[in-house]
Amino acid sequence: MATRQNRAENKTTVPYVDLQAQYRSIRSEVLKALEEVCESARFVQGPKTSKFEEEFAAYCGVNYCVSLNSGTSALHLALRCLDIGPGDEVITVAMSFIATAWAISYVGATPVFVDIDAARRTMSPTKLEAAITPRTKAIIPVHLYGMPAEMDRINAIAVQHGIPIIEDAAQAHGARYRGKRVGQFGKIACFSFYPGKNLGAYGEGGALTTNDTLIAQRARSLRDHAQSERYFHDEIGYNYRMDRFQTAVLAIKLKQLDSWNAIRVARAACYAKLLKDSSYKLPTHFSDCECVWHCYVIECQDRNRVRHVLQEAGIETGLHYPLPIHLQKAYAFLGYRRGDLPVTEALCDRCLSLPMSADLTDEQISAVVSALRKAAA
Ligand SMILES: *Cc1c(COP(=O)(O)O)cnc(C)c1O
Repeated sequence: MATRQNRAENKTTVPYVDLQAQYRSIRSEVLKALEEVCESARFVQGPKTSKFEEEFAAYCGVNYCVSLNSGTSALHLALRCLDIGPGDEVITVAMSFIATAWAISYVGATPVFVDIDAARRTMSPTKLEAAITPRTKAIIPVHLYGMPAEMDRINAIAVQHGIPIIEDAAQAHGARYRGKRVGQFGKIACFSFYPGKNLGAYGEGGALTTNDTLIAQRARSLRDHAQSERYFHDEIGYNYRMDRFQTAVLAIKLKQLDSWNAIRVARAACYAKLLKDSSYKLPTHFSDCECVWHCYVIECQDRNRVRHVLQEAGIETGLHYPLPIHLQKAYAFLGYRRGDLPVTEALCDRCLSLPMSADLTDEQISAVVSALRKAAA
């Protein structure tokens, strides 16, 4: 049965992401791999970790992957590897998960937020160019919702000013820009393997990718307490290692990633077809991008009411994100105000993430679409 019954209200429910359905499809392989980790009694790093790193690097089309314990750690280490610190500015977007900004704050640098392009919903190259100062030491575009940022234009600006790019690819495993997978457009790229991501662990996980041998070495050292030799520490390091249960699960899931992403693409096309005549603003298709649809985000005038109607119909939705980073209380000290980033703010006010996963069925999509039509009526 494709739909789940909500026992309390006896209503059909469509979960936002159905991780249980995905688990059922790989259950025996996963349990065997987890048992092997237990039997080996080696729980952190090891040969299996290196193997997964090689596989993920090859998947992304880069030389190195350094596995880590989260995407947040990946962003933090990326900035550490570029020696960014107090007095430096890092340009990014406020239309992202907060961790993009946290990493900049962790190294003592100042986040500078620029607005997004309304259709792509990623960093506006024009706004980026206007925000560059002599203190700008890195640029972090975010491939939001699985849609690659406009990397050709962003890269041209970065090269012209000699500023490195760090890709935040936490939502875009496998997405392509002009035929090339994300993860190879900057000096460093950062991935998250949080359970709900397109490639998700069974716990916390992340990685950075790079083509630079010295950066890969430095990141490997920093994630493991910066030890050149056991108990000899060269600089301030971290415990950012990934545990082997996660490596085991990720190695299995990586084999399925392309087929799961292809199903997401088909599901997104299905939403687009069924909603094309509606009053909702749908995501735009770009011929230079292969989006992997981490989120399928529509925009509506009275978002909260629409969300409520869907909730009443047993349909879970998400908000990515209800408040942009520059207006978060944690960043009040930066002095941004509502109105500073109008495109970002409008998207936060109007965004609604529809159920999206490789396990979403035709029936579930129909239920979502009919609830949306009812809300619009
Ligand atoms: C999930 C996410 C992160 C952080 O990853 P964690 O693994 O949760 O630390 C960073 N940036 C973006 C855009 C994300 O979606």
